[in-house]
Amino acid sequence: MTFRILILGGTTEARRLAAAISQDRRFDASVSLAGRTANPVRHATPVRTGGFGGSDGLAAFLTDTAVDVLIDATHPFAATISRNALKAASDSGVHLVALRRREWQAEPGDTWTHYPDITGAIAALGSAPHRVFVTLGRQELSPLLSAPQHHYLVRSVDPVDPPLAIESVTYVLDRGPFELKNEVALLKDHRIEAVVTKNSGGEASRAKLIAARNMSIPVYMIDRPVMADFPAVETVDEALLALDHWALSEQKRGV
Ligand code: NAP
Repeated sequence: MTFRILILGGTTEARRLAAAISQDRRFDASVSLAGRTANPVRHATPVRTGGFGGSDGLAAFLTDTAVDVLIDATHPFAATISRNALKAASDSGVHLVALRRREWQAEPGDTWTHYPDITGAIAALGSAPHRVFVTLGRQELSPLLSAPQHHYLVRSVDPVDPPLAIESVTYVLDRGPFELKNEVALLKDHRIEAVVTKNSGGEASRAKLIAARNMSIPVYMIDRPVMADFPAVETVDEALLALDHWALSEQKRGV
């Protein structure tokens, strides 16, 4: 008996989980991507790309492709797809596992202030011009237009196109994981005075926070959106364990 697994991805964890599951003969896994990045990193399993058309579309997809387990391993800020996953899994009677990496927590030496959204964080930079390192999705940068007095260093995976209509912006194209020594060099080279970031959690992009701490640079932290109240595991290993338990109980039931 092979169980069909659909992983909603777009994260390092989803890719690592897919690689681990692809080694297990009990499972036939594939990954779904929204299609936001031009050249997504290769996966060990088949990948499908593009939206489903809301929770009803996702529920229909789960039924049509006979999915047994849906794993929501999307980014902690991707609230809509997670909400849709919860509803679609419930509507179609598919088992749901959610993998949500743990939030970053401020440590001694950090200077973090917290904001519910990007607009709030940019406004809090104040009216005096600063040199600001921004690590946000390239489709989320419009709030920067309301504070054109700053110089922005914008890092993204794909080019910001069209570029922002602001006088002073430097673009850096890069994809994590990022190393501490490179992050320190980046902040130094660009004489950065503030970091604006989302509380994504995870290791791949944590080094910038350590660099900011070491260099006494304030971090304007955008807090996570409120997610559907559904239990989530925090690591790939925990997700594998949850999947294993589910498969064993199904096998015991004689499914
Ligand atoms: P979102 O606002 O929660 O979702 C918007 C719509 O995009 C969804 O309703 C769905 O369209 C489609 N979608 C999202 N994830 C999908 C997936 N894995 N497979 C198929 N369709 C998907 O999502 P978002 O914040 O734009 O993020 C999009 C993707 O980028 C996610 O997969 C996420 O893991 C990844 N990502 C997001 C962030 C972030 O900061 N938000 C950062 C890194 C990576 P339909 O309603 O048509 O199904």
